[in-house]
Amino acid sequence: MGRFEGRVAVITGAARGIGFGTATRFAQEGASVAVIDLDEQAAGAAAARLMSDEGAPEGVRAIGIGADVSDAASVAAAVGRVVAELGGIHVLVNNAGITRDNLLFKMSEDDWDLVLGVHLKGAFLMTKAAQQHFVAQRYGKILNLSSTSALGNRGQANYSAAKMGVQGFTRTLGIELGPFGINVNAIAPGFIATEMTDATAARLGIELEEFRRLNAEANPVRRVGQPEDIAAAAAFLCSDEASYITGQTLYVDGGATLG
Ligand code: NAP
Repeated sequence: MGRFEGRVAVITGAARGIGFGTATRFAQEGASVAVIDLDEQAAGAAAARLMSDEGAPEGVRAIGIGADVSDAASVAAAVGRVVAELGGIHVLVNNAGITRDNLLFKMSEDDWDLVLGVHLKGAFLMTKAAQQHFVAQRYGKILNLSSTSALGNRGQANYSAAKMGVQGFTRTLGIELGPFGINVNAIAPGFIATEMTDATAARLGIELEEFRRLNAEANPVRRVGQPEDIAAAAAFLCSDEASYITGQTLYVDGGATLG
């Protein structure tokens, strides 16, 4: 029996990348999955892929919902649909993310607001909408995506602030929600091969393979991460095996931040 049998998991930004990798793993372990992403069509297509995945149990359910996590009305509607269509909500993964990199002196107010809006306000709104269900049922798992960039990364003042903010948010919710049977943790990935890092290579004018090779050399494990690396840690932290772990940020980065 899978670790998420009978559970409904909501994953934001899950049409691709780390979110889709995590959705795939959760579905394979028996979860009904709601894929939330900006583009409803892309979310629906991802949900369809989850249901036809040979690694998933027969009859696994998945739905795709178009929503902007930084918009309160959109979030309320999305969480309402999850509960109505999948019959509840037990796990929330706040994964949706964007980058608008620039050195501080060139960073616009919009670049700041957009990044803080999706990562921090988005996690806040989604968590607030989900927690009322979690508290009522005395059960819930919340996982937030931070980043090694939380520790500081040139050109990412907005993203770094948001990702360190996510860690403070995680610790505080660990304190507030623990008494209600709710675990709140974060994962801080290092370099993961997704469209987000592909776009960074393009912006820097570096060939993709070269960019990945350079990033692989920058950690002791000597490879870049894949969405499956994050999905494996996410599945553990959102499972009942991790019920004594809360408020923590797990760095999944091939040792890149070890110094
Ligand atoms: P990705 O491939 O760019 O996927 C992010 C997804 O989030 C996209 O489908 C995007 O939709 C969606 N999204 C963006 N804004 C949204 C919003 N307002 N509402 C709903 N969905 C939204 O990124 P990823 O690499 O998988 O990253 C996933 C998470 O891990 C992010 O939080 C990221 O910061 C974090 N992370 C990634 C890495 C890495 O190396 N890849 C490292 C550390 C942390 P659109 O395509 O329509 O914009």
